[in-house]
Amino acid sequence: MSIEDQGSLFDSDPEVAKILADELNRQRTTLQLIASENFTSPAVMAATASVLTNKYAEGYPGRRYYGGNVFADAVEDLARERVKQLFGAEHANVQPHAGASANLAVFLGVAQAGDTILAMRLDQGGHLTHGSPVSITGKTYRFVSYGVTPAKEDGSGERIDLDLVRDLALRERPRIIVAGTTAYTRIIDPVPFREIADEVGALFMFDAAHPAGLIAGGEHPNPVGVADIVTFTTHKTLRGPRGGAILCNQEFAKAIDAAVFPGLQGGPLEHVIAAKAVAFAEAMRPSFKDYASRVVTNAAALADALASEGFRLVAGGTENHQIIVDLRTFDADLTGKAAQDALDRAGITCNRNQIPDDPRSPFVTSGLRLGTPAETTANMGVVEMATIGSLIGRVLRDHENERVLSAVREEVRVLCSTFDPYPDAIVS
Ligand SMILES: *Cc1c(COP(=O)(O)O)cnc(C)c1O
Repeated sequence: MSIEDQGSLFDSDPEVAKILADELNRQRTTLQLIASENFTSPAVMAATASVLTNKYAEGYPGRRYYGGNVFADAVEDLARERVKQLFGAEHANVQPHAGASANLAVFLGVAQAGDTILAMRLDQGGHLTHGSPVSITGKTYRFVSYGVTPAKEDGSGERIDLDLVRDLALRERPRIIVAGTTAYTRIIDPVPFREIADEVGALFMFDAAHPAGLIAGGEHPNPVGVADIVTFTTHKTLRGPRGGAILCNQEFAKAIDAAVFPGLQGGPLEHVIAAKAVAFAEAMRPSFKDYASRVVTNAAALADALASEGFRLVAGGTENHQIIVDLRTFDADLTGKAAQDALDRAGITCNRNQIPDDPRSPFVTSGLRLGTPAETTANMGVVEMATIGSLIGRVLRDHENERVLSAVREEVRVLCSTFDPYPDAIVS
């Protein structure tokens, strides 16, 4: 049977086609408030679905192990040049399959097993790859962790404790100091980290997985040129395909490239790299600056709406695309897990999250993390954020009442119908 004979996905595999259609429907009819998610453009998706998925391209442009890589080289060179221009970087590696592989490649490239790495505590906003005992990072390197300052009544607490970063750096003399978080609502200024790294002779890595799009859009300070190495994901605020990338000075280029391939990965996903190139070009457009600014404005509006519903916000609010809600003052018995489940049934998708010094386990938690990147892409604005805040309040005040949940589910469906991320439904 030739490829043409196989017809569309629906004709050749209705079972998978049906699942994809259902997922498209879910994304279009429920609210996507997971802070690490976004809706990619049809152009990004077209590149992801391209014939480059067929190509093996181990190595780097001009230095591949297999033949036939003229166009793989062209697309990877284009992606590298675009991302260097976007962030003002000397060197780029666009091959990491994900943010986790980008981080691991950096550690592999510039540290030895057993070296000390200073990073953010996982239960205060750090990522699994910042030394969790269940991650290969935590098993291979000796992580020491800093956290945030205590909560304060006026919301000025729960900021990265830079005094603690410096004290730990002086005491532990880490090989690498890592800045960057997965659940933190304030701007991270790379400069004080640079100063501490210089004082103790450490390398400084900035993990910009979350704010990459806000940095590209000019909303947050650019760590490139301040940090020695910057890693990020391409699928969060940057709105590209699922993947990772690494930027660094020439000094580390060889070590980083060797760590990604052959150190950690095999053949690169050139179809995803093509989609990264598309996303980097999209992020260079003036409309992306506007997008990044609306993401932040919307998060502030959602934070205000949630505060007026009676929720305590970790760190007193937000300066980025995230909001972290402490549920304990709203309802001492309501766990993050129960809140996430109730909101899910009401068509509001978000994730439970630990709050600083959470008395509950990471599986249960006392908090929720919400984000605005996806629904801002779908064109929602501050009016819709106020509506969403009150819908969340309604659900969580009455989270075991199925009538309330289905009434909100219907309102969500109506709201989403005017803010359809894929009005032409050309993707599945
Ligand atoms: C999301 C995230 C990662 C990992 O990205 P994956 O693509 O899920 O592997 C790494 N670091 C931080 C801070 C993140 O938020």
